[in-house]
Amino acid sequence: MSRRILIAGNWKMNKTSAEGATLVGEVLAGLPSGNLPEILVFPPYLTIPAVVAAAKGSAIEVGAENVHWAESGAFTGEVSTAMLKDAGVTHALVGHSERRQYFGETDETVNKRAAAAISAGLVAVICVGETLAEREAGETASVIDRQTRKALEGISDTSRVVIAYEPVWAIGTGKTATPDMAQEVHAQIRAILKDLYGDAADSIRILYGGSMKPANAPELLAKPDINGGLIGGASLKAPDFLALVKAGAEA
Ligand code: PEP
Repeated sequence: MSRRILIAGNWKMNKTSAEGATLVGEVLAGLPSGNLPEILVFPPYLTIPAVVAAAKGSAIEVGAENVHWAESGAFTGEVSTAMLKDAGVTHALVGHSERRQYFGETDETVNKRAAAAISAGLVAVICVGETLAEREAGETASVIDRQTRKALEGISDTSRVVIAYEPVWAIGTGKTATPDMAQEVHAQIRAILKDLYGDAADSIRILYGGSMKPANAPELLAKPDINGGLIGGASLKAPDFLALVKAGAEA
């Protein structure tokens, strides 16, 4: 089953509009010729218009780092699917561990955000992953099972689903899951997707995230169920991100 590799940069709360546009310009200038993976960046909300303008007509797609489930209303600080689409956004990141850890995101709200994004025509990149304490307690499989099934409750359009497995202990720490450790969890996620969606599960991309960088990407991307990367730190510098794009092209 061939799944197009997806290389996605999560910029988090980094880069002003001008800096984001410059980064996109540098990446575009350095893109290799020939086959490319799908390339996506998630800039902060406020900088989305500048990044969309810089990426216009190019191979780079732009996503939002979150999305609210309501169409409009009294939800201070939130952003709707219509606002994102109006700004040229095609994807929404949902359930990133930093949102779960610091901003009270729950399995229920992750599901509501993902369902709203997908029914509005956006692709939802849904993050799941265990904490260090959960891994050490032998709870990785049960956490992944619960988070994945709950996030997908009521969702039937698998063409707009991407899952990102991000072990929380590997995010921004420089610690990476070994390719075998990551593949084990990715295979578990694939089995959950098969259980939920049958053969349609084969075309759902499962990204790895957690200190992915040019040095470890080729080995991770060689695993059968690792279909791309969600990259934080290494997506902020054009040479590193370009090296990851190249690893994606060669995987
Ligand atoms: C992330 O935040 O999604 C992430 C994987 O970050 P980093 O690559 O910096 O670990």
